[in-house]
Formats: sequence, structure tokens, C-alpha cells
Amino acid sequence: MRYSFALPALAMYCSPAFADANTDRLRDIAGFFANATVISGPSLVDCTLSGGTQTSCFSITVKPEPQDYTPGPWCPSSVDDTADAGGIWLKDGEVHDVDGAFIAGLAALYGDDIWQLFDSASGAVRVTDTKESCEAAARPDVAPEYQNYCVQCLPEYMDANASMTYVIPLVPQDSARSNRTNVSGAGIASNGVRLDAAAPVDAILAAHTIAPFDDCGGHVNTHVGYHYHVATDCIKGTQDAGSDAVRIGIAMDGYDIYARLLLDGTAPADLDSCNGHVDAGGYHYHAGEAGSNAILSCLKAETGCASENPDQTCDASARPPRP
Ligand SMILES: [Zn+2]
Ligand SMILES: [Zn+2]
Repeated sequence: MRYSFALPALAMYCSPAFADANTDRLRDIAGFFANATVISGPSLVDCTLSGGTQTSCFSITVKPEPQDYTPGPWCPSSVDDTADAGGIWLKDGEVHDVDGAFIAGLAALYGDDIWQLFDSASGAVRVTDTKESCEAAARPDVAPEYQNYCVQCLPEYMDANASMTYVIPLVPQDSARSNRTNVSGAGIASNGVRLDAAAPVDAILAAHTIAPFDDCGGHVNTHVGYHYHVATDCIKGTQDAGSDAVRIGIAMDGYDIYARLLLDGTAPADLDSCNGHVDAGGYHYHAGEAGSNAILSCLKAETGCASENPDQTCDASARPPRP
């Protein structure tokens, strides 16, 4: 049994009709995440959203491990390597293969001669190859010795028990202002992998580092594990009756996230500033373009919580602790 519906709690404070709607929604959510590595849930919990609304959320605890492919590779090991040996990087809205030639050409690409990610004698790429070095190189204040590195953290650096718990409203609570996605990320993909906020590309580049995404748009940090900054067709989903595209995720505000392209292969033309629009199925988002470094840049409704602690009660309105 991979999920539970927490029916006793539900019956205490819901009218029967409401309880049925919640049960249906939980069943839909459990089915949607059938291919995720689910530790527990989805179950019904009380939650306080980012705007202070107290409501019912679903809670699901997952491991960030897609079941249908193996993440990576990220950094090539030699300037002679082809695109199979590396991932992708984004610049000015374009997706670049991180192959050996890309590494060798960084100084020209960015017009900055300080770039030197490889040993000029051997052609070996300078890659973070331990947990300690990937963490040191991924910090906002990159230590001088890790400047000019291709930064990759490997999935095996994660604690074997590491998981992420998402607490997301069952029914979206629209908010007067849009909510930036940087605090809790954009949402969760159908395979249980976090759909993250924009990667801090400017800070990464300022340290003369590159932190490539694999060809599926993901990479690893040792806090949240494998996560996406780009939504690609590696993310499978469900094609629900009457919907205009494949549903690939659920946003932190409870609205669905659909693939970038509609079922007819065209891009929707009427998206709002948060990449959302209304069709027969209601309001939903479409993931941003691969090169945009924004799966979603904002959310229309109040957001829930994402935490490494499965037992934490969600209060998204609380001020985050100072770092
Ligand atoms: Zn990242
Ligand atoms: Zn749509």
C-alpha cells in the first residue's frame, strides 16, 4: 500500500459532499504520482498557505528518483568528448550541449578570458568529483579554489533516506498578487522530481563555474536531490479527457502544470504572466520553454510547503528563518 486517504480525519470536519470531493481529488493525485518513488501519502492534512489561508492540503513524501531513466551525465571529462558525455546549459534563451567543445569555448562564448575549465596540456575538464567539492562549488560564495570548475553533484552523494515532502492545497486559493516561485519551487513532476525555480545562473557564472543540467533538464544538489530547471519530454504525464495538453506536474499552489506544447504541437498563445490560462478544464499552467530557465516564473494562487522534514506542519505564511 503506497498511499492512504486519512478518512477518519476527513470525516470529522467535512460535510459528506465535501469529503467525497476531497477523496476523489486524493485518488486522482495518487494515480497521477503512480510512477513516482512514493514513501508515503498522498494524505489529507491541515495547512496554512503563503497568504495565510488555512485550508486542506495533500501531503506526499517522495524520493527524487525517476523510475524510467537514470539521471546524468552532466560534465564531460575531456575537451574531446562528444555531447553524449555531458548535459546541457542555457544562455540567452538557447539550449547548448555541454560537450568538450563547449567547455573549450567558454572564454569566447562569454567574452571573458578568465574562463579555463580544463587543463590546457591534457584537455581534462576540471570536474567536482567529491561530495565536499560539489557542495563547496555550489555555495553562493564559491571558494577561490573551486572557481573555474564544472560543478556536478552525483545522486549517490545523497543520504539513502533523503526524501522531500510536498504539502499542496487540494483546492487552489487565488491570491491578490502573484507569488514568485523562488521560495518553494514551482511544483512536483509526475515522477516525483521537484520542478524548481530558476537556477541562479548569474551567481554560477560569476564564479566561473557551470552547473550543467542533464539532457532531461535536471541536476543534483545535496539538499533537495535531483531536481529540474527545464521541463523536457523526459517528464511523462497523463492525458486527461478534454484537456489541451499532457499534464506533467502539480504546482505548489495546487493548479496543474501541463507540457509546454498543446496536443496539436503548437504553443498556447494566450498565456498570462505566470504561464497560465483557462480552458474547458479550468485554470492551469504550461511549462516554459527549455531555454527560458523558468518552468514557471510565478504562481497565481497561494503556495504550500516543500520540506526535507516529513513531519513538519506546513505554515507557508511564516517568515523563513534567516540564513
Ligand atoms: Zn538546481
Ligand atoms: Zn492549456
